[in-house]
Amino acid sequence: MSAQIIDGKAIAAQLRQDIRGRVEARLANGLRAPGLAVILVGENPASQVYVGSKRKGCEECGILSLSHDLPAETTQQALLALIDELNADPTVDGILVQLPLPAHIEVETVIERIHPDKDVDGFHPYNIGRLTLQMPTLRPCTPRGSMTLLQSTGVELKGLDAVIVGASNIVGRPMALELLMAGCTVTVCHSKTRDLQQKLAQADLVVAAVGRPEMIKGEWLKTGAIVIDVGINRLESGKLVGDVEFASASQVAGWITPVPGGVGPMTVATLLQNTVDAAERHDHA
Ligand code: NAD
Repeated sequence: MSAQIIDGKAIAAQLRQDIRGRVEARLANGLRAPGLAVILVGENPASQVYVGSKRKGCEECGILSLSHDLPAETTQQALLALIDELNADPTVDGILVQLPLPAHIEVETVIERIHPDKDVDGFHPYNIGRLTLQMPTLRPCTPRGSMTLLQSTGVELKGLDAVIVGASNIVGRPMALELLMAGCTVTVCHSKTRDLQQKLAQADLVVAAVGRPEMIKGEWLKTGAIVIDVGINRLESGKLVGDVEFASASQVAGWITPVPGGVGPMTVATLLQNTVDAAERHDHA
């Protein structure tokens, strides 16, 4: 294997330690602990796991986690009323609504209802707009966490040819904005892209966020490329794999994130980072 591993687990642990330090400094200065309200609607097992690790992360860093577990039949009106209440609560710095939501609830309406200052997922059009204009405030967690991983390599990103595979609102698109801001030349590929392999062959940096197990093969990559694998796919055997075939890609890439232990832990740690950022901003509001 030639690639260096980008150890998301270790980098996330370091980030959590920094966050804990910032929370302790707040308490020492007589300020309250940051508060994160986590709303889960229904009983999607994957969502329950994600929410569980977010709540555990809060505990570890001294962030107050306020749980709102609502039944699947909760009406949109009731969910919006809860968000209004949390928007007005001065002890709540961040509001997170775990996605996906049940089909009868309109996700865009819910996201837009969260006050942009408390939108720690960074999905509100206001926060995406600010990122687009290179004036970021609260930034989507997975792309921001991926940028922290990239910075950890010490590789100069300016001028790199970056290819993102996947164009979702929560990963691919905001990742493109992050990399553009970092000075990369960015290509965003998606399900309609022609000749993905030809695009990947030119890429100094690849971000895979598709949701297809081991779709991207090592032979498709440029030698020495940096590979950030956002995909989390569970095989029938129960094994977790990314969107990149790790065994072949790690022979060709210069740097690569493993799955699990790469981007996943960074997403949770970055959510906590966004919550403390929001709390610090609220102090000065
Ligand atoms: P999504 O389904 O919303 O979007 C997938 C994107 O991939 C779409 O833009 C689609 O056009 C594109 N696509 C589909 N088939 C393609 C193909 N053959 N070639 C090129 N592009 C193709 O998914 P998402 O929410 O962005 O998530 C993507 C993956 O990342 C999933 O595996 C998800 O579980 C994972 N994920 C991980 C984290 C994390 O913290 N590590 C966070 C969010 C999502």
